[in-house]
Amino acid sequence: MEKKQFQAESKRLLEMMINSIYTQKEIFLRELISNASDAIDKLYYKALTDEELSFNQEDYYIKVSADKEKRLLTITDTGIGMSAEELEQNLGTIAKSGSLAFKKENEIKDGHDIIGQFGVGFYSAFMVADAVTVKTKQLGSEQGFKWESNGADGYTIEPCEKETVGTEIILKIKENTEDDNFDEYLETYRLQAIIKKYSDFIRYPIKMDVTVQKPKADKEEELEEVTEEQTINSMVPIWKKNKSELTDEDYENFYHEKRYGFDKPVKHIHISVDGTLRYNAILFIPERTPFDFYTKEYEKGLELYSNGVLIMEKCADLLPDYFSFVKGMVDSEDLSLNISREMLQHDRQLKMIAKNITSKIKSQLKGLLKNEREKYETFYESFGRQLKYSVYSDFGQHKEELQDLLLFYSGKEKKLISLDEYIEKMPEEQKYIYYATGASHHRIEKLPQTELVAEKGFDILYFTDDVDEFAIKALASYKDKQFKSVSSGDLGLEDAEEQAKTEAEQEEHKALFEHMKQTLGDKVKDVRLSKRLRSHPVCLTAEGELSIEMEKVLQAMPD
Ligand code: ADP
Ligand code: MG
Repeated sequence: MEKKQFQAESKRLLEMMINSIYTQKEIFLRELISNASDAIDKLYYKALTDEELSFNQEDYYIKVSADKEKRLLTITDTGIGMSAEELEQNLGTIAKSGSLAFKKENEIKDGHDIIGQFGVGFYSAFMVADAVTVKTKQLGSEQGFKWESNGADGYTIEPCEKETVGTEIILKIKENTEDDNFDEYLETYRLQAIIKKYSDFIRYPIKMDVTVQKPKADKEEELEEVTEEQTINSMVPIWKKNKSELTDEDYENFYHEKRYGFDKPVKHIHISVDGTLRYNAILFIPERTPFDFYTKEYEKGLELYSNGVLIMEKCADLLPDYFSFVKGMVDSEDLSLNISREMLQHDRQLKMIAKNITSKIKSQLKGLLKNEREKYETFYESFGRQLKYSVYSDFGQHKEELQDLLLFYSGKEKKLISLDEYIEKMPEEQKYIYYATGASHHRIEKLPQTELVAEKGFDILYFTDDVDEFAIKALASYKDKQFKSVSSGDLGLEDAEEQAKTEAEQEEHKALFEHMKQTLGDKVKDVRLSKRLRSHPVCLTAEGELSIEMEKVLQAMPD
């Protein structure tokens, strides 16, 4: 039998690929299963146009089986199979994709279910295997063929016995090395986990023989180990189902199954977009902050699928920082993937999806605020700080998007209110949105500075979080109403006549104020007559941009 050589470039490419394209060895299984699924899809497409063929969904499956003793892992499919020439072309030439050719030949435009396109995935098997054997029989053929290779050395093709149509890929799993554990690719639980992780939504059943404990038939109280064939994948992705078929519980189960969090999300967002931009997404607004949310360790991102196959676990580009708390997934058929399918070319498509998602999240949050206030407040308790922080970070460039999502404690109403709600209740003569900063609501209530404003009947927002005032400073105003600290010099409460009167009185007692100022020395900048006091004889006010409390925060910060 003649041993054929991979072409020189191919040989180099194969080595390069085995060692460097993929960051995780476990994806070899994703690649082989995707190929098996493609092969079944092709049979399905053929059946659509060939009256002689029928496609009975139940007859088509993928099977993964491991033999620990012999160190063999086998992936079997009931797909279309390959002829000797196809084996030569598709597996002998790296970067030749039979699947891409199939899509073109058959002019399958919406054949976006077929995953293959680069013609390299198959070789990822060599990351975990010393040798790979492919046994295959093509649809309509009597003869089976066997392709064998131990990697960079070349491959052989010869006729072989094979009863059924389809393909069997047999990997001789490598021995463990110091750095790598290969044994795990022969362990059922590990294989199950890899299948769940990457291939859960492959549309054909992926079966495995699994050993389970079952009560004995004759003695129910005793357990025995039995091996049964189980389907590992859930097959139909929830995001492809019709929204009307799904209940809140289905979404919640998905949230927990995917381990997006352990809490109960306050809201799910199911998006199906079909047009120039095509994608499905299921997003969640969590109820509680993940334990590391307010640390540097927290990584934002959504899961990214291409045709139901997981490409990236945390695609950060899909979420703006200010919505980093959102969990979920996006599936799109139109992504331009790079060759390892681990990363995306940073393309327009992804940017458009991200933009679209961002505006959906925004409108859902607004809806929640308006219609499901209690839920919104639960959410706000966990993530309000993040929103306020995002208003002033990045030079305040996102403040427009976020300002109407903010809530602050209202001194008058004794509850959280939005800025819109504050403005709606403003009496006509009120010019500013007033706020007061302090350590607690109780302490703020006791501030002498709040007295006059409160007496006028104007509401005051109580700021107890140190990000509050920074956020407000970044906003400067809301719907043309400026923010004003109750401890700022001019409260804007007096009309021209009153102001003139105050100034006159100030003049009158000039000597007294001068004397007080000199006695206090460096401690104050000025001593003035105040109209804001009621029950207190004196209070401190800030002259410049910063309130006294904000200055305290700044001074407490490390340089
Ligand atoms: P891609 O899937 O991107 O095309 P691969 O390297 O994974 O590239 O596979 C190369 C080609 O080999 C496929 O396009 C397909 O034509 C063929 N092939 C691989 N696995 C199978 C299989 N299980 N059944 C039929 N054909 C297969
Ligand atoms: Mg492939």
